[in-house]
Amino acid sequence: MSIRALYQSGRPVVSFEVFPPKQDTAIDDIYEALARLAALAPDFISVTYGAGGSGSVNRTAEIAAAVRRRYGIRAMAHLTCVGADRGRVAAQLDAMRAEGICNVLALRGDSPEGAAGAYRYAEELIREIRARGDFCIGAACYPEGHIDCESPARDIEYLRRKQDAGADFLVSQLFFDNPLFFRFLENARAAGVTIPISAGVMPILSRKQIERMIFLCGASLPSAIIRLLHRHGHSPADLRAAGIEHAARQVEALLAGGVDGVHIYTMNKPEIAAACMARIGRA
Ligand code: FAD
Repeated sequence: MSIRALYQSGRPVVSFEVFPPKQDTAIDDIYEALARLAALAPDFISVTYGAGGSGSVNRTAEIAAAVRRRYGIRAMAHLTCVGADRGRVAAQLDAMRAEGICNVLALRGDSPEGAAGAYRYAEELIREIRARGDFCIGAACYPEGHIDCESPARDIEYLRRKQDAGADFLVSQLFFDNPLFFRFLENARAAGVTIPISAGVMPILSRKQIERMIFLCGASLPSAIIRLLHRHGHSPADLRAAGIEHAARQVEALLAGGVDGVHIYTMNKPEIAAACMARIGRA
């Protein structure tokens, strides 16, 4: 079943995201984590794709295929197009199809060198994948606007273009404040974005991790999170536990608010996903 059909089932879609291990890390580590994640029975698991030629790139399709074959869970492979030529993208899509992967998260990616390539925006990749027919296509969205975009309203306009190009559903960037996501949803719907939108949730595990993330994607920190960082700053274990608890509560409230789905950035740590699933009665 494609992910598109899952969203049509009328039940919120709960998905997990994992990343391939770096080349100097044992591949078995990810399979151990996947086995535990699969046991939590998410609706699908997505596997990230390292932009700019990182060593993890080739493992995306391999790991997505394993999600499907070894664990019987629907898989989605991320694919970025920045710096790529059409031949490379075509070869990657062929490799995915050969592995039985029919769900792709079509992304621009980020290029540190600003490399030239055949694609400028995700929209172009989406159009190309759609022209190939049989893929179910996801795309990224940003509740606070993409960090490079001049305004959230303009960002939503581009989102509609991704829908018009053939995106079947959207998965959001992380955010820490649910009302902000619900406002974004309202604005997107008012602008004609009608496809399902899953809310991306990432727990805080450490102060360093959160600082990196907010500078990378521009997510804002609500005062509840700043207080949490302040309260548990002296104890990494307490901060981690409080961060996971906050994420689980966020997931619960999003589902109670009627979102199409939640996408949990597991960071390959099954205990994060387990806490969220337990909170929503799906463990
Ligand atoms: P686009 O939709 O192309 O948008 C990029 C920028 O261009 C935005 O500022 C947008 O407003 C603007 N824009 C879009 N269309 C147009 C247009 N037609 N004209 C003018 N401006 C336009 N990165 C990875 O490297 N690997 C991953 O696996 C990965 N997974 C991700 C998963 C999720 C759920 C999310 C939210 C992000 C992920 N990313 C990943 C990060 C992503 O690659 C970056 O956020 C990237 O900067 C933008 O990608 P995009 O597909 O949203 O780009």
